[in-house]
Amino acid sequence: MSKKQQVYLLSEPMFAVDIPVEKEEFFGFPCSTCGGSGWHWGEDEQGDRTKIDCRVCQGSGNLKAVVTVEWFAQK
Ligand SMILES: [Zn+2]
Repeated sequence: MSKKQQVYLLSEPMFAVDIPVEKEEFFGFPCSTCGGSGWHWGEDEQGDRTKIDCRVCQGSGNLKAVVTVEWFAQK
């Protein structure tokens, strides 16, 4: 079965002094807290059921991953 994956391949920077930190963003991960819907059931001030934005994805239904790579001397 096929599987879609987002991959970050590491390779040393050409000029490590100029690029000590790399940052890459990956998008489109469904929020596991709300199941990708962006909301969950809650109650309003009158006690009626209402949709409340997911506090983790803030209503988008998706998450992004920020991968940070720092380069150091190997000792
Ligand atoms: Zn969510």
